[in-house]
Amino acid sequence: MTGKTHIAGGIAAGLAYAYVSGMDPIILSGAGIVGALIPDICHSGSKIGRKMPITSRFVNLVFGHRAFTHSLMFLVAMAFVLKAFVPFDAVTAGIIVGMASHYILDMGTRRGIQLFFPIDFRVRFPITTKTGSTVENFIFSLLALASFYYGYQAIYFYL
Ligand SMILES: [Zn+2]
Repeated sequence: MTGKTHIAGGIAAGLAYAYVSGMDPIILSGAGIVGALIPDICHSGSKIGRKMPITSRFVNLVFGHRAFTHSLMFLVAMAFVLKAFVPFDAVTAGIIVGMASHYILDMGTRRGIQLFFPIDFRVRFPITTKTGSTVENFIFSLLALASFYYGYQAIYFYL
């Protein structure tokens, strides 16, 4: 999936979570974007990889692409670290749901993700799409729609 789709996924996930939890929708969607970009740190061509080339190369060398940073182990580790160091629950929650949205979107691609790293088994949906395809554009539209829906609901309830 492209960075654009991941950003849309992070916003949609953050706002959906704001709607469910009653937390601040603006903070949740912002943190959702950050969370949605973190897993691709392993990929030097990604949005976050280009910003942090050395970290990205290192992570890619050590763990490979779509392995550790796309696993439950990494998600749980991040949750513990954020809980310990970030005093704002909405920020932590947003990053975690954003990361989860990234995993789910990448499961929709042929390569899938190594969700149970270090076990060498790639998880993907039975139907997958190619990065940058028409289907991905359609998914992007759905995510934008979901963002409007949950954003409207969440802000309405939050105010
Ligand atoms: Zn990814």
